[in-house]
Parts: sequence; C-alpha cells; structure tokens
Amino acid sequence: MTDTTTRSWRERQAEDLMASYAPALRMLVRGEGCWVEDDEGNRYLDFLGGIAVNSLGHAHPVIVEAASSQAARLVHVSNYFTTPSQLELAERLKRITGAGDEGRVYFGNSGAEANEAAFKLARRNSDGARNRILALKNAFHGRTMGALALTGKPALQAPFEPMIAGVEHLDSTVDALEAAMRDDVAALFLEPIKGETGVVPLPDGYLEAARRLTERHGALLIIDEIQTGIGRTGRWFDHQHTGIVPDAVTMAKGIAGGVPLGAMVTFGRASLLLQRGDHGSTFGGNPFATTVANAVLAEIERADLIGNAARRGPQIRDAVLATGSSLVTEVRGRGLLIGIGVVEGAAPAIAAAALDRGLIVNAINPTSIRIAPPLIVGDAEIAEFADRFGAALAAC
Ligand SMILES: *Cc1c(COP(=O)(O)O)cnc(C)c1O
Repeated sequence: MTDTTTRSWRERQAEDLMASYAPALRMLVRGEGCWVEDDEGNRYLDFLGGIAVNSLGHAHPVIVEAASSQAARLVHVSNYFTTPSQLELAERLKRITGAGDEGRVYFGNSGAEANEAAFKLARRNSDGARNRILALKNAFHGRTMGALALTGKPALQAPFEPMIAGVEHLDSTVDALEAAMRDDVAALFLEPIKGETGVVPLPDGYLEAARRLTERHGALLIIDEIQTGIGRTGRWFDHQHTGIVPDAVTMAKGIAGGVPLGAMVTFGRASLLLQRGDHGSTFGGNPFATTVANAVLAEIERADLIGNAARRGPQIRDAVLATGSSLVTEVRGRGLLIGIGVVEGAAPAIAAAALDRGLIVNAINPTSIRIAPPLIVGDAEIAEFADRFGAALAAC
C-alpha cells in the first residue's frame, strides 16, 4: 500500500476504485439542506440531489433522528422475521400507490433490484405461452443483467452480451405498441419520463393506450417510477397524473432520502404471481432502511413537499428561460425533474462552468442538463440557482 497522506484523492480514486465510474468531480465532506461542501471548504448548491435521491436534502433532522434512534434499537434481522417499520412501510406504500388491500410489497435495496423482482413477476405471468417482454428504446431500468436486458440502450448492453432472452425494445409510439402487442406478451415495462435519457416524457396519451392494450392482451403494465416517484413530479408517482392503474410499480431513489432501499408494489391479481421461495434479499426491507423511509415519507406528507415540487418546477423553468440564453433550446419534465435541452455538445461545458460557480447540475448527455433538487427547495435556493446558472450559461 502506498502512503495515503502523500497521494491526492484524485490519484487515490484512480488507484483504489474500479474504473467503471468517471473521475470524481469533487471530494465532498458534508452537507446541509440544499448545500454540500467539499474538502477545501467550497460550498455548492445541490440541484442534482444525488440523482433525485436526497428528497429532504442533506442532514435533515428527521433523517438524523430516525437513523440514529433506529441504529440504537435494531439495524438488521433477516427475512425469517418481520419488524414494525417493515409492515408500516408496506402499508404506507400500498396507500400512496393506491394498490390498497389487494396490493403487496417486495423490498430490495436499489432500483435495479426492484426491477429484477418485476422481471420475475413478468416471467411468472407466463401461462407457459407468454414469452415476450416489451420495453422502450432509450429507457433505462438499471445495470444488473435482468435490468440491463430491459434497458433499451444498445451501447450499454453490447459489452455484456448475450442478454437475457425475450425482451424487445419499441419506439415510444402507440402505433409501435399496437403492432407489437399480442397474447404472447407477459409484460410491458416503461418509465413515464425517461430520466437517464435527458428527462424525456412519454407522449400524451401513451400511458392510457398502454393500459388499454396490456389489459386487452393479459400483459402486465409495469411502471418504473424509480426516478419519477416519491413526489418528485408533483404526485406521489408520475403515472398518477393520468389516473391509470398499473399492475406493478417499482421505486427506489428518493424513498429513504439516501439510505439504500428499493421496492416493488403490485396491484390486484399481479399480487398473487410470486410464490414462496421465488425471490429474496438478505438486506431487503431491514428495520434501519424502512424506519428511515417511513420518516422521509411522513415528512414529505407533513410538509406538503409534493405540492412544493409541483409549485417549484415551473418557477425553475421560468428562471431558466429568463436567462434568455441562446444555448437553451427547451425545458422538459414535470415538477422537480427537469431536463434543459441545450445546443448540440454544450451540456458538459455548462455543467462544468456551473460547478466552478458553486452549482451542481448534471450533463446527462451532450444536449441535456438534468436537474433534480431536493423536494425542500425554496425561493432562496431558486434565486441562487438563477444567478449561478445564468452566469454559467453566459460563460459558455
Ligand atoms: C436509477 C434508475 C434505475 C436503477 O436504480 P439503481 O438504484 O441505480 O439500481 C432504474 N430505473 C430508473 C428509471 C432509474 O432512474
């Protein structure tokens, strides 16, 4: 081992961590509210929120209290046992999804794990004859092998072929869905807004058509709300803007404010598909993560952070448009999941200029800036964002 005191953190990352991530932008050491601080004492306004994860921002007293008191009581048991917080969270998720009494909940530790559970659910909807699963081109469902097979991005899949068989990727049009949908389809997976593709919403009417067609052919409609869920777009779950009822919803990112937790909630007959022994996770649904999730979700309700997301989204959109920058081509998304379209190739330079000015935003691709601030964001933070983002655009 080389001496850690003489190597910079950049060298240490390169020498110590797997090369699967890009070099880190900064070394962060603490945070509070919508702000984080690096190892040199510089502060940054965090308008990425750990990629839509830090629902309550950083070091929120509700999370501090829930995590520390539960850590002193019970962190982990095993799924041979249940705990009060696990059942409370399951009941809460059945309520906020609208799955109700017929709903059932499976707990994992990440978004990908929630989608792996949903993949098994789809396979169990087989009747022996259903061997096709539909998903959308350019959608993102995670990096594990089942989730990767669902992810409609050939560049991510290519190095790891062969993919798990049976998944077809469609254009995001009702025509393409109508052409593909038959009685041999087990499930349709979709994201209501493609977050990793630059915050690109499905066309109006698509979800309703997807519900109609899957229902007619006995296929499950599985909605990946891992990025869009937990209040971010102005409803608990983005598909609730429409009123359709899915067969399963997967969620993760914002659910426990940064403590790892993923879940799949099933509706109606889909709740009967997985049998004893079909799936499991050692850590899944442990009392530590579920206690923090209960505290986060209760705080979102108490402080009306879903209403805040609905109100703050348009305010941020207006602030972006008010810069008058010719680099900005459009603003997409709903609530506090926002994609800023920029001229070809400009996004990385804009995000770098923002970071140098103490603002974290994400260049998700060369033509898109993604922002997903904590749901607690208010007037002061938005004014600060407007100044810093405007300056970053002006510098590019
Ligand atoms: C982030 C994300 C995932 C994967 O979640 P992980 O926790 O990284 O495994 C899956 N689907 C969507 C829509 C996501 O945004």
